[in-house]
Amino acid sequence: MTMLATAVQRLEIDSLDRKTPLLSVNFDVDAEALWLSVSRASRPALISQGLYGLTNGVPRILTMLADTGVRATFFVPGLVAERHPAIVPELIAAGHEVASHGYSHTPLSALANRQAEEDELRKAKDILEAQAGHELLGFGAAACDVSVHTLDILFDQGCLYDRSFLDSDWPYLFTKENSRLVELPVSWVMDDFTFFGHNIYPKLGWGICEPETVARIWRGEFATFRDDGGFGCLVMHPEVIGRRSRLPIVKDLLVEFSADCTFQTCASIAASVLRLSQPDRRPG
Ligand SMILES: [Zn+2]
Repeated sequence: MTMLATAVQRLEIDSLDRKTPLLSVNFDVDAEALWLSVSRASRPALISQGLYGLTNGVPRILTMLADTGVRATFFVPGLVAERHPAIVPELIAAGHEVASHGYSHTPLSALANRQAEEDELRKAKDILEAQAGHELLGFGAAACDVSVHTLDILFDQGCLYDRSFLDSDWPYLFTKENSRLVELPVSWVMDDFTFFGHNIYPKLGWGICEPETVARIWRGEFATFRDDGGFGCLVMHPEVIGRRSRLPIVKDLLVEFSADCTFQTCASIAASVLRLSQPDRRPG
């Protein structure tokens, strides 16, 4: 049983067609925010690897998405949008969705209290929405780390969907009073940092894999979602997947699976899930 704040309940969606593939590609544009959250600001070379994601990764990714005709969702920390005000408008202009990745990339469970978390999420939402020119619909927690208060805050801030939990192959709902929040659960096996993330000090990552190995693993994952349904979502980071040796595996997968499936933004998937859902069962 998931530990949640008082009024929030989890609901399975009995009426969901569980054979329908719901595929998405996401990019978490962490830039400096990830490295500032784990180390000091006085280490410019450490932080520069995050900037690689903006200077080299994002342009390559946008070209790849344009070539494949896929619309993606980019989760952006408020701090990154504040430091680089051109990035959110650029992503929107290219036809992609922008969602909130919090403000500072600090794990939410590490914040002092509910008010600090509320401020962190509100600050990000305000900055991102001002730059996007419209309301943001989604949120994905840094490092998939949420506190017992997070969902409650997302309800209060009018969020349509969350992409932070790791406990299902299918979307489900959280409810609070008469409101619903779509959960789009993900998995570390479909995250590029698992296979390519690396840093010496502080130590991060588990070793660098060959792109071909990762392509095989992700192809196997996507095939299960294509054949058996569910939310199949690649979560990637421009500084990691944006290298010239790695991005081609993503392009190949998008081309291959686009033959049978449609890749959608998280907002589009969440909206259709909400439309179709008839929540009538609480988990036993
Ligand atoms: Zn992140």
